[in-house]
Amino acid sequence: MEVKDIKNIQIACDLIESGLRLPLVNSLSGIESKRLLRGLWKEICGEKPNPGQLPDSVIRYIRDYQSAAELSGFVALYRSIQENQGQIESYNKVRNSKLLLNPLTLLETWRAFKKLTGVSIDINAGYYVVRDIIFEIVLYATCRSCSASFIFDPSKRHTERCPFCRTLYISKL
Ligand SMILES: [Zn+2]
Repeated sequence: MEVKDIKNIQIACDLIESGLRLPLVNSLSGIESKRLLRGLWKEICGEKPNPGQLPDSVIRYIRDYQSAAELSGFVALYRSIQENQGQIESYNKVRNSKLLLNPLTLLETWRAFKKLTGVSIDINAGYYVVRDIIFEIVLYATCRSCSASFIFDPSKRHTERCPFCRTLYISKL
């Protein structure tokens, strides 16, 4: 086993401990052996992984303006961690700088968010919100009234307006 593989196992263990669903641990950790991952899961959780279907987007986790606001804040923290670590260009310099899906940033953001706000976000929701913004399944818009950035999907309740000040988002397009 190479050092890289041992590092990936450590990442996989941390992701499992934080509650990330196994197929997502599989895609994020770089560990291809499903048998190894299932073994780690049983070791850490003492039970079999949840076989249920995965959600198709972050929208599944947005039940009200409160959860929309929390997940929008999660993205802001994720972005600032990636900017500070030089993984991506600063948002101010490059208006549409893309986020990167990175297991270490996901874990760091998840822990820091809990510490800073006292709110424990489902790490699966954290994964989906970052993924969906990267793949433009939802947009990350800026409120014209309070300047906060938020998850924008005009077709769904609670994401059609800014969750912080409730101003209706009007697209510039
Ligand atoms: Zn606003």
